[in-house]
Amino acid sequence: MLMESKPDKVLLHSCCAPCSGSVIEDIHKAGVALSIYFYNPNIHPRREYDIRKEENIRYAKKMGIPFIDADYDADRWFESMKGHEMDPERGERCSMCFEMRFVKTAEYAYQNGFDTITSCLGISRWKDFDQVTAAGVKAASLFPGIRYWAYNWRKENGSSRMIQIAKREEFYQQQYCGCAYSMRDTNKWRASQGRPAVQIGKDYYSLFAPKRPPLPERAPKNK
Ligand code: SF4
Repeated sequence: MLMESKPDKVLLHSCCAPCSGSVIEDIHKAGVALSIYFYNPNIHPRREYDIRKEENIRYAKKMGIPFIDADYDADRWFESMKGHEMDPERGERCSMCFEMRFVKTAEYAYQNGFDTITSCLGISRWKDFDQVTAAGVKAASLFPGIRYWAYNWRKENGSSRMIQIAKREEFYQQQYCGCAYSMRDTNKWRASQGRPAVQIGKDYYSLFAPKRPPLPERAPKNK
């Protein structure tokens, strides 16, 4: 794991159990003190938020890692994204969404004796790694002594281990990024493909699951 000096105490911003599984295992194995920070007011509706959070808590407990459950200030998220409702995924709204979550993470880190924050958001191939990193670096720079660990967790088979762990742990499998607008756009795309709308609480990873249908046409950015 690339970093000039080993961090003392890392606060990992986690969006969900599948994206954080291999990152948690990697940091834990490296012997670095780690806590998980769950601040995701973007996730809509509340039932989806609760399922994703409970899955993350379940895994944190299993690994014996402290889990910090921050507020669900969804009203503030909607207020902050005003004017960007129609932005595409990976557009300006996503940068604002990352920054909002990372600033809160960096603030908590600053107030609670952490020296480093990082995130598993960039492990998803649907995300732009550089966009996630820029938001993390910007957020950390607001708090003296806090740095953003910009490691690309997709490396060293991170992406495939992420799926292996998700299947092994039978994590909840979300069908859209998280916000109301991403659900709207996913449903639009699904309708164009003759597929059913997003169903909350339906899919779970499994070692025995049948092969999933092919992925959509929109090409993910791979780093
Ligand atoms: S698409 Fe995902 S990253 Fe972008 S604003 Fe919505 S929840 Fe946030």
